[in-house]
Order: sequence, then structure tokens, then C-alpha cells
Amino acid sequence: MKTKKQNADFLHVGRKLLDWYKIHGRELPFRKTNDPYKIWICEIIFQQTRIEQGLNHYRNFIERFPDVQTLAEAETDEVLLYWKGLGYYSRALNLHKASLQIINDFNGVFPVDYDHILQLKGIGKYTAAAISSICFGKKNAAVDGNFYRVLSRLFADDFDISNSKAFDYFSELALKMMPENEAGHFNEAMMDLGSEICKPKNPKCESCPLNKDCIAFNLGKISGFPVKTKKVKPTDLDLYYSFVEYNGQFLVRQRKDDFIWKKLFEFPVEIPADWQLFVVKQKTIAHKLTHKNLSIQMSHVVLESQDIFTEFAHGNGFSIITYEESHQKSFPKPLENYLKDYYENKSLMR
Ligand code: SF4
Repeated sequence: MKTKKQNADFLHVGRKLLDWYKIHGRELPFRKTNDPYKIWICEIIFQQTRIEQGLNHYRNFIERFPDVQTLAEAETDEVLLYWKGLGYYSRALNLHKASLQIINDFNGVFPVDYDHILQLKGIGKYTAAAISSICFGKKNAAVDGNFYRVLSRLFADDFDISNSKAFDYFSELALKMMPENEAGHFNEAMMDLGSEICKPKNPKCESCPLNKDCIAFNLGKISGFPVKTKKVKPTDLDLYYSFVEYNGQFLVRQRKDDFIWKKLFEFPVEIPADWQLFVVKQKTIAHKLTHKNLSIQMSHVVLESQDIFTEFAHGNGFSIITYEESHQKSFPKPLENYLKDYYENKSLMR
């Protein structure tokens, strides 16, 4: 295996991949532009979102914030609102902060150098490599899960992809395959091969342009690659919320900077002890975040006095809103689901 890998004609395989891409590459709206701002937005959106699911969000976002200046001038709440439905709101906050960095540190012009792009908030090695290769033709490999999968199978390489050096290791391998002046197309070709052909489960090896070169395929050992040993075990976290309602209105407050759900809106966490009398229902909501298993104890409180309701709101920095008004605010997913379930499915006796 090692001998074959060392002797492999890396560039030859890279060219084959490009030939395939020129015929079979996906036609995506953002592939028609080299505008680094648009490529940046799409890279961030599609990091955690499937293309079909994210396309409308991408279009709406670009329509409202067509360039870095517009994004930088916008209020954070509005940026979050346009991110609604995509989850991982910290990405939207970072986009906003990075747009201000571009205005303040780079005179409003998107940086060209990989190292400068890497300085922007929320941009890691993958995104910096994708932008610098696609928009500026810089020879950088945009190594993501697709690269790990394709390259480890192609070369039957058992380098552990959870190792902190995996990015650099596979980047070096990819650069050997990357033809000169084709960095952007090569990276896009790897993304397409990984998502359309060399899928995590049931890869379509019969129609893969690299099947003659693929060592794992020829050894019948695809299921052994990529190798990933370390698993981050999620930790448990208990949260407590009270949904406090009076006459069709309820209380919300924007979260302060915190370890999760930064700047999103939430319900009261603590309520006066005597309000326990007005709790009409309690339920536990389970919700998974990347590294946390949440258990949310939700109490549904229906107050009968407007004075108590408004006094508590004003004394504790809550806004009083209706369900319709809540559409203009961004909530963590489980709270958004709670509202939807209550107001649209009438799951609770009212
Ligand atoms: S032959 Fe199969 S395993 Fe190998 S790169 Fe192609 S799709 Fe992936």
C-alpha cells in the first residue's frame, strides 16, 4: 500500500478529478461569482447546512446585505433575524464582527492574503483556503470532511482525522494533486466528489472518476476509511425556563453574551416563588447541541393580573410581545419550537 501511495502520480489523479468536475460539477448560484464577500457568506452558511436547505437563506441574506458595508452597518438583531432557521447563531455574530473588521482594519476591502483572511472573526483554515483559492487563485487546499474522506480512501491512508494535525497532513497530500492555477476548481471538485460520489455511506464507486486509482476501493476496504478515533463526549446541561403569559402576550429578553445562544431571545429563567400557583403545565424538553445534551425544564405560567405581569417585565428588563411579534426575533431552536407548538398546534389547554 505504502509503495503504491509513494509512487502514485498525484498530479495525474488531480487532473482526472478536474476533467470530471468540468463535466459533472454542480451548477450552484454562488459558483458564478468570484466576489470574496459572497463566497465567504456561502462558505459560512453551507458549513453546517445542506445546499438545498441553505440556498434560499443565502439568496435572502445576499439580497438584504449585498456587500460588506451593508452588513457592517446593520444592527446585530437584524443579522440574526436573517440567519433564522440556519441555527449555530454564533456564525452570524462572527460574520457581523468580521464585516466590521474588514471596514476598520482593511479599509473596507476584503483581504487577499490567506493569513489576513484567517485574522477575520469566525474564519478558520478551511474557509480562508476556500476564499483565497476560489477568489484569488491562491494555492491552498480547502480541507474539510470531504477531503478527509476522499483522500484517506483514495490512498488507503489511516492518518487519524481527529488528530489536530489532520488538516495540515491532508492539505499537503491535496497540494501534491492540485494542478497549477486550478486551486479554486480543484477544491470545488473535491467538494463535489465528496458530496455526490464518495459519500460517507454507500459511495458510488462504480461511477467514480478515480476508481482505478483508489486504493481502498481496489482492496475492498472502503469501510475502514477515514480513520477517526477520538470522540468528544457531549456533557449534560440542565436549563430552567418559565413561559410567562398574560392575555395572549408573553415575556422575552435578549440573552447577554454567554456560552450558548449568544444574543438570542429567551423566556424568564427565575420567577417569584408565589407564581408557582399559576403554573398550568410543566414539561421537559431534550435538545442536543454539538457538545451538550440539554434538558430544559419548562414551566408554563398564566398570570391573571396585568399589573403583576407588566411590573415584573419592567423591573427585570423583559419585553412584552405577541406570537406574531416573536417572528421578528431570533430564539434558540427549542424555545422557537415551544412557541410554535403552543400557538400553532395548540398542544396545551388554553
Ligand atoms: S472509488 Fe469509491 S471510495 Fe474511492 S474515491 Fe471513488 S467513490 Fe471514494
